Amino acid sequence: MRVRFLGTGGSQPIPLPTCECRLCREARRDGPPAARCGSELFLPEIEGLVDASEFAPWSLSKAGSGVGSLSYCFLTHWHADHAGGLRVLGMRPADVGPDETVAEAKARTAPTLVTTRAVYERAQESVGVLGHYVDAGIVDLHLLDEAGPLGTDGWRVDALPYPLDPGSGTDDATGFLFDDGDATLAVVADDARAFPEASLPADLDAVVFESGYPSERPDGGRRRDPEPGEGDLSHAEVLARVRRVGPEVAFLTHVGHQCGWSHDELAELALDAAHDGVRFAHDGLVVEV
Ligand SMILES: [Zn+2]
Ligand SMILES: [Zn+2]
Repeated sequence: MRVRFLGTGGSQPIPLPTCECRLCREARRDGPPAARCGSELFLPEIEGLVDASEFAPWSLSKAGSGVGSLSYCFLTHWHADHAGGLRVLGMRPADVGPDETVAEAKARTAPTLVTTRAVYERAQESVGVLGHYVDAGIVDLHLLDEAGPLGTDGWRVDALPYPLDPGSGTDDATGFLFDDGDATLAVVADDARAFPEASLPADLDAVVFESGYPSERPDGGRRRDPEPGEGDLSHAEVLARVRRVGPEVAFLTHVGHQCGWSHDELAELALDAAHDGVRFAHDGLVVEV
């Protein structure tokens, strides 16, 4: 199973607009992997995009031949760094046939949005065009909690629902479990404090988790740890989760400007024993699971 990380910055890209810090200067000068934007990855074998941040149209275009077409979009939750670029589902070349309108041509090649009912309804509130696309047939809809798991090309995709706010009681986010018959991959993108780890199988090949907030900056300065009631996890909490879940390999993403760590510093951090089997993803990283 091939995984292409298109965007790994989460809610705060690097460089951050108007910021002149050392991370932003380096990212403006060198681009990826120092630069990070968005929260999306691509599964080329099923032409599946997982989340679509504000940067998704650009990230997809920039990936060039690595992203030939788009058949599925798996949506984890409504936040703008995961859903703000869903208009990308309508930004496709329309190969208009004779006696066919552009809308009809796009409907004929409609990608499928795959998520849960609660995530879809919340996303419609924040991304108004989504409902229009579905109503117009430009995007098809597969709600995993109603239609059951998605099956395509020998793959099976299941939802892993959880609440963004641990106290809310509403599963307004979902992770995804991808199984291509050979490898299994769980993607749990963000704000996953209340994610039920028991919903994961015991023999996972790989996971994609949020990096969590490091408690310290590379220069030793303290950062604020997330409050216990918040959905954000600390980096130490994410590492503990990786140990409990026990995948062959964990890729950590959502490494925003607020974390304060450069790509090179994270690569060095990942060398210690606490990071065995753990890798920090970066924009443009392609891995085989
Ligand atoms: Zn996010
Ligand atoms: Zn900066």
